[in-house]
Amino acid sequence: MATEQTFIMVKPDGVQRGLVGEIIARFEKRGYQLVAAKLVHASQEHLEKHYEDLKGKGFFAGLVKYMASGPVMAMVWQGKDVVKQGRVLLGATNPLQSAPGTIRGDFAIDVGRNICHGSDAVDSAKKEIALWFGEQTPTIAYQRSADSWIYE
Ligand code: UDP
Ligand code: MG
Repeated sequence: MATEQTFIMVKPDGVQRGLVGEIIARFEKRGYQLVAAKLVHASQEHLEKHYEDLKGKGFFAGLVKYMASGPVMAMVWQGKDVVKQGRVLLGATNPLQSAPGTIRGDFAIDVGRNICHGSDAVDSAKKEIALWFGEQTPTIAYQRSADSWIYE
């Protein structure tokens, strides 16, 4: 069974707008497996670490403030090619360039209010999962009876 994992997060605007269930449903319906989840109101320090690669950007301070403005739904999703496919489900970073049918393309307009996060590579997914869920068995392994109907 495919064990690739990605870190997906519903941002504060997505939580406030009642889109947690919608975003979870899209990953579930595609066939991906939820292996960790928690609602967390992250500190500025934690978010600066999460976005450390963007530290030099002009939008960095505003991004951290936005992300710290309320709780986020932090999740780990598992399955074949889930890192890349997760980004496809999310849509382009700028919602104005996100195709209809994607999460951002259907529910967002401004880049600074784009409602969801997804890891951009397998390596960054590992780092983000460790940051948000800890190094020690961060995810729950369990057998899904539907797997044989999703994977050939
Ligand atoms: N962002 C922004 N302005 C920009 C570019 C990015 O506010 O011009 C925010 C946006 O919320 C984005 C986040 O910074 O989701 C992280 O940027 P990244 O380039 O990593 O995009 P993502 O991986 O989230 O698609
Ligand atoms: Mg990114």
